[in-house]
Amino acid sequence: MRIPLLDLKAQYLSIKEEIDQAIMNVLDSSVFILGPEMKALEKEIAAYCGTKDAVAVGNGTDALVLTLKAFGIGPGDEVITTPFTFFASAETIAQVGATPVFVDIDLVTLNMDLTQLEEKITSRTKAIIPVHIFGQMVDVERVMEIAARHDLKVIEDAAQAIGSEYRGKRAGSIAHASTFSFFPTKNLGAYGDAGMIVTNDADLASQLRMLRFHGCKTKYYHDEIGYNSRLDEVQAAILRVKLRHLDNWNEGRREKAKVYDELLADAALQLPGRDPLATPIYHLYVLRSEERNVLMERLTAGGVANAIYYPVPLHLQKAFRTLGYKVGDFPVAEKACEQALAIPCYPELSLEQQREIATLVKG
Ligand SMILES: *Cc1c(COP(=O)(O)O)cnc(C)c1O
Repeated sequence: MRIPLLDLKAQYLSIKEEIDQAIMNVLDSSVFILGPEMKALEKEIAAYCGTKDAVAVGNGTDALVLTLKAFGIGPGDEVITTPFTFFASAETIAQVGATPVFVDIDLVTLNMDLTQLEEKITSRTKAIIPVHIFGQMVDVERVMEIAARHDLKVIEDAAQAIGSEYRGKRAGSIAHASTFSFFPTKNLGAYGDAGMIVTNDADLASQLRMLRFHGCKTKYYHDEIGYNSRLDEVQAAILRVKLRHLDNWNEGRREKAKVYDELLADAALQLPGRDPLATPIYHLYVLRSEERNVLMERLTAGGVANAIYYPVPLHLQKAFRTLGYKVGDFPVAEKACEQALAIPCYPELSLEQQREIATLVKG
């Protein structure tokens, strides 16, 4: 593809000296696990999100598993999330032995439809995992109000939303705990796997620190059955460099999105829907088209990368067939899966490239 969906090489070249130096410093120190870079990154991410604490883990999936475990969620419990997200949002619920329960999405924002949330709560419900899809926050304060009425925990799956805001509050700062992924293609991406949990709850944070390290506070004294899920020093050092650029990059994505909004205003398709109270970070710029196949062919033939997010809603995934869902159960999520298409949207994209892409989109 002449124009990729994301240009990580161009991003690296723009900060190469800082990154190379940070990696060399770690190699020079030869401290690789649970060291000073990770601890500093935890402080910086907590400060960035406006939370009291942050706990670094191996990846965004583990961040969810460890948080569910720390909340004591397991067999017999239900956890509510959306069917229009990356698999891990619900996979992790099943991993701890609980049952994922889905709420359909809103067709404008593609986030959980909060008007349908409360009716899904049962006596078995223990937690809600709202997902900020494509980097636009859902109204977590409203989720917290509903959760408070039923004594439930709320975990923001903020994997796609670091730095985005709702009514001026940062993603991750509102729920009981929130999880981030630093998978390489996320807005803040490592050069490998990495993840983080942020929270204002000191007890939860210390519980998570035990869980990520084989259930121990003191080495070789194991209080619990835990995991091995740490964010290594090389990744932490890289992320600390990149965190300094994150706001610029997020602003760059917002600018590119604005250009698309203008160039595509008269196109015969749906532009990404906005919640006026949200400040998105455009993890992805996702169009919706009833003629998606034709659109994909045109873009691909023109050398422009494009990708379907997501081809199958979670309730129809083979891995969840035992949950007993069928086609038609979550019609809005199903429609989104039939129509959604992401086009390139990253800070290094030029205006010329965006014009070219827009011409292909319009056909
Ligand atoms: C990327 C992602 C995850 C998982 O993160 P990993 O770091 O890849 O384990 C979870 N939820 C959502 C919504 C994601 O986009």
